[in-house]
Amino acid sequence: MDAMRVSRLLLVTLRDDPSEAEIVSHKLLLRGGYIRRISSGIYAYLPLLWRVLQKIESIVRDEMNATGALETLLPQLQPAELWQRSGRWDGYTAGEGIMFHLDDRQGRELGLGPTHEEVITALAADLLRSYRQLPVNLYQIQTKFRDEIRPRFGLMRGREFIMKDAYSFHADEASLRETYGAMDQAYRRIFARCGLRAVAVEADSGAIGGSASQEFMVTAEAGEDLILTSSDGRYAANQERAVSLPSAAIPLQDGSCRDLATPGQRSIEELCSAHGFDPSQTVKVLLLLARFANGQPQPLLVSLRGDQQLNEVKLANAVTARAEAGAGALLEIAPITPEQLKAEGLADLAFGYLGPQLSDAVLQGAKTWQQRFLRLADGTALELERFVCGATRPDTHLQGASWEALCPNASLRPAGLDLRSAQPGDRCVHDPDQHLEAARGIEVGHIFQLGRKYSEALEATFTSEAGSDEPLWMGCYGIGVSRLAQAAVEQHHDGHGICWPVSIAPFEVIVVPANADEPVQSQLAEELYTGLRQAGIDALLDDRSERAGVKFKDADLIGIPWRVVVGRGAIEGRIELVRRQGSVKQELAASALLGTLLPTLQQERLGLLEQPA
Ligand code: ATP
Ligand code: MG
Repeated sequence: MDAMRVSRLLLVTLRDDPSEAEIVSHKLLLRGGYIRRISSGIYAYLPLLWRVLQKIESIVRDEMNATGALETLLPQLQPAELWQRSGRWDGYTAGEGIMFHLDDRQGRELGLGPTHEEVITALAADLLRSYRQLPVNLYQIQTKFRDEIRPRFGLMRGREFIMKDAYSFHADEASLRETYGAMDQAYRRIFARCGLRAVAVEADSGAIGGSASQEFMVTAEAGEDLILTSSDGRYAANQERAVSLPSAAIPLQDGSCRDLATPGQRSIEELCSAHGFDPSQTVKVLLLLARFANGQPQPLLVSLRGDQQLNEVKLANAVTARAEAGAGALLEIAPITPEQLKAEGLADLAFGYLGPQLSDAVLQGAKTWQQRFLRLADGTALELERFVCGATRPDTHLQGASWEALCPNASLRPAGLDLRSAQPGDRCVHDPDQHLEAARGIEVGHIFQLGRKYSEALEATFTSEAGSDEPLWMGCYGIGVSRLAQAAVEQHHDGHGICWPVSIAPFEVIVVPANADEPVQSQLAEELYTGLRQAGIDALLDDRSERAGVKFKDADLIGIPWRVVVGRGAIEGRIELVRRQGSVKQELAASALLGTLLPTLQQERLGLLEQPA
């Protein structure tokens, strides 16, 4: 039985928006019969979506193979031991860790692969011996498992999803950079061929580690990431990572340091509106607690200029870099509450009136915490000569405070870092005349220069040309294949349904006899359908005896790029060709269909011809 007939396709479309979906791409995939939810973050990919996924995979394969990368398939069940050796087991399984894990019948611990650095590095340690085998780049397309804290938006953030991941191995950093550059180019071609407008942005390297990394973002309102770009196109970064020039602080006129009565003024807004300060004249402190997999909880005292926002990713990186040896993975950073102070056996603090001078003495006698603060400050706060800050006593601030006066002991002065979030409107570092603009993005790919972090931990070494034993240089490169499919819908749809780019559409053309019970129409439709397939076109025939309107609605909803309508004109051999995008209609002779459609399709199969940098 030919499965390319709608009657045999198990097509179950929904007229109404399913209540489980919030964003349009998720709604359309459910309504169009592409996916069904099995459980939270777990979906069945129905036959229509599977065709889309296979087309995406084949573009990915094609471009990866063109770079000389080798396809492989690694196990999804991974022994805990490998993750313990890399030091990631606790971080990935405890606290907010996202690795599903289990015990086997012998009581040995296993994890379900969220990513494959450990497995591939262990393999490299076994297989790669000499510089002569390098560089090498191995990739796979496979299901990944992540117990996401907030699975949502359908395939966008699933707990089981399809990823293409690749790992490269090199004798030196220059070779790593070269492959990283080749992956960057291959990714741009992949997204363009999938018909996606994607931008490359500087990214935080997160739990994977390593140095340089770059994300590829499909720009869309529903994106979970905020990206900041300069209007000249020379700078683009994820807000997690973005840098900018801060606005200049307005100097405080009054030089002397004195108490200021501020009853009930706990926030910067309340303080500033009561006394006419500008927020840039104030320093706020955040009292936080960092928890580690093994080490003692570490209280943090973070100072920021009052008009600046904390960047939690930058803070987490700074705390990780300063953690004591053996503390293990950073599990979370959260505000310290009065209840927690009590539980630690500590006195209450003047919340809302704290200042950078808060003494370590307040931590004396803590039951489980470190008894010293880790003191950090954003550079903009440290640069202030005079400022307003809490007096660490209730209802009181200090006006005209200075770092020298507050922390005469330089060792209690915080380290100055970049901890602030760059904001839209900020001036750019590369050119102060440029300003950052915000856009929302869906991360569809991420490439990293890992360096030697994993090869050192898992002792993956090779013999260099000079004869010495050295750890391998590594890169890793991911594409969220199932997320990409949904991102394409987010970027390509209209009020009637999906408008798939031809290159990844489940079918290229749908042939619809307006009245399938009319022999002339159904016969011509059959002939055209067969002719299209013989010409190598991915065609589908709607052979159902539904009303024409129902069939047209379904065709629009599932988003087949071209529709051939065989209606009353069939008697004279006339048909209608409709382009899904923009509903552009054209009447033509049935005999002219192939000649009209094929050249256009051949162009469209290539995807977007140009891709923004
Ligand atoms: P995110 O920041 O969105 O959680 P990530 O940075 O953890 O993603 P990577 O480890 O870089 O993700 O994984 C490579 C790619 O896999 C991502 O760029 C993304 O496209 C995709 N991906 C990651 N997590 C998910 C998920 N839960 N569901 C679907 N796709 C995902
Ligand atoms: Mg990522």
